[in-house]
Amino acid sequence: MEDPAAIAPTRIDASIKQVADDAKGFMPAAEAEALYDAAWATAPYGVILEVGTYCGKSATWLGAAAKDRGGRVVTVDHHRGSEENQAGWEHHDRELVDPEVGLMDTLPFFRRTMYDAGLEDVVTAVIGRSATVAAIWSTPIAMLFIDGGHAEEHAQNDYRGWAKFVMPQGVLAIHDVFPDPADGGPAPYHIYLRALDDGFTEVRAVGSLRVLRKERGPRRGL
Ligand code: SAH
Ligand code: MG
Repeated sequence: MEDPAAIAPTRIDASIKQVADDAKGFMPAAEAEALYDAAWATAPYGVILEVGTYCGKSATWLGAAAKDRGGRVVTVDHHRGSEENQAGWEHHDRELVDPEVGLMDTLPFFRRTMYDAGLEDVVTAVIGRSATVAAIWSTPIAMLFIDGGHAEEHAQNDYRGWAKFVMPQGVLAIHDVFPDPADGGPAPYHIYLRALDDGFTEVRAVGSLRVLRKERGPRRGL
């Protein structure tokens, strides 16, 4: 597998990048570029699995890299938003509420993003709770990107449910890792520490993005 910490030899297609830039979401440019690099390195070896689709901003970056390499992305979300996206919370966006149901629904926005990016054949959406989908999953994952709910329970479930499917030498990327709790919620940082403890090795850090690799380290007894 190519080095997931290296700058990929190709960059995101300009028109696809424009779609990613225009999509609602939470993915600064430098972190998105690093995500693209890791996806480019891993895409030929197995599926890329994202937890936390939202409106498809990061899925567009992952999908662009996968498309370039003939790979595939699966992105999982219940599309009802995280705690911090709900009405009255910091990251709420009224446009994302289904007025009849009275709940958030980011799925139509995601769908439009994939259409605009020309990635409908590359990125497959799975609509459901992360833990529910993980419980019926069995395919080895070349790159796992955890960017779901930030409540401790959800982040821990995402790690517990999905990290075991990352293939040897595969990548685990975690977003919103803040070692200083003053910068953001601590749950993604906690699962990052747990991954290091489980034998994942950090290979790259950009902003709050951490890119780790599953090594056959001594802690695994291999
Ligand atoms: N990757 C996105 C941002 C994701 S925001 C981007 O690039 O902009 C986090 C998302 O995780 C939200 O859409 C929310 O609905 C989803 N989410 C939170 N908890 C979840 C859970 N338990 N199962 C599935 N999705 C969840
Ligand atoms: Mg995030």
